[in-house]
Amino acid sequence: MIILGSAPKPAGHSTRPPLPPFLGHQLAAFRRALLKWFAAKRRALPWRQSRDPYRIWVAEIMLQQTRIAAVVPYYQQFLERFPTIAELARSDEAEVLRLWSGLGYYQRARNLQRAAREIVELHGGTFPRDAEVARMLPGIGDYTLAAVLSIAYGKPLAALDGNIARVLARLGAVQMPLREPKTRRKLQEEAQRLLALRHSGDWNQALMELGETVCTPRSPCCGECPVARWCRARAMGLEAEIPAKRMLRRGVRVTLGAVVLCDPRGKTLLLRSPGHHDAVLFSRLRQFPAIEIIGDMRDGADDGVWEEAKRRATTQIRNYLRDEFALQKLPTKSFRQLPALRHAVTFRDVVLLPVLVRVPRLPQHPEGEAVPLQDVPHMPISSATRKIARAALATLGELPT
Ligand code: SF4
Repeated sequence: MIILGSAPKPAGHSTRPPLPPFLGHQLAAFRRALLKWFAAKRRALPWRQSRDPYRIWVAEIMLQQTRIAAVVPYYQQFLERFPTIAELARSDEAEVLRLWSGLGYYQRARNLQRAAREIVELHGGTFPRDAEVARMLPGIGDYTLAAVLSIAYGKPLAALDGNIARVLARLGAVQMPLREPKTRRKLQEEAQRLLALRHSGDWNQALMELGETVCTPRSPCCGECPVARWCRARAMGLEAEIPAKRMLRRGVRVTLGAVVLCDPRGKTLLLRSPGHHDAVLFSRLRQFPAIEIIGDMRDGADDGVWEEAKRRATTQIRNYLRDEFALQKLPTKSFRQLPALRHAVTFRDVVLLPVLVRVPRLPQHPEGEAVPLQDVPHMPISSATRKIARAALATLGELPT
């Protein structure tokens, strides 16, 4: 499938581009226009100050599913603490997670460190230049591979992330959903065909930059676009309709009860290994004991129904404490409901019902660890766990001791 050509006159919707591909001189002009625009408009982002593959790699991993503005302070802190691959390789995982804490998707941090250790052990501490070797490292997919090797080493590999896919789809008026593997494959081929071979790093970054700043998901600024004259979507008046909307996956509603146990010394219990239902929410980091509450807690929830739902949740939490931690006969006054929290995780719409439970002593649990509650917000934990800890500390401050 050839998807890019010079822009056609407006026409009816079509999934087949009607025009031939760029002719040689058009392709050269297209590349020149985009590279010239990038040279003039590129933002001075911290990872653009260096060709060090380690710095580029860390940035690319952090930028996955995370906005640039959110990444910048984490990136700077991370590189101050781990300025080299060797430093990252010999550090504790807990320290790496602490610096990642708040960025989410913690598996990225774990893979980054595992890959750093492999690079030190097998590749002399330098990010491999060979694509097939680099591809074997944990957490390195096609996109990261192409981005790092093209920007750091000038390898002729076209990167395809969500921004670049959208730009290419609009340029070629491709009206298929971009996440379909077949569409993705074709866009990857097209990205490779368009790649400016002698400037592959700048080329990949230019397309990303165009997608982030001009050809944005909603309301692309076509008047400022350096390649508008080659854009089929613009010529056909389809820029707002591409990419094609995805069929929305129905959101899954989940209610979790989380338990902040607190002993007279102010210690609480965290579990090292989450249960199956809360692994995504708590990012496989230490967390408070939690269970999924059975029964939808929200349908038609006026205040009375909501109170009833919370009572049902408390009953299920009591049973959980009895069965999992052998905590029985806890008086009702030792339970204190904390404010409910909403938390959206990909397609899951999660309501958290945290409960503070005063206990004379913390129970033993094979995955458990007793820690001072006031230290919890500063540990490498998910933002959901941090919110719960803060709510518990605020409530304890209000309670008589
Ligand atoms: Fe995107 Fe508009 Fe440029 Fe086409 S002309 S690539 S739709 S910004």
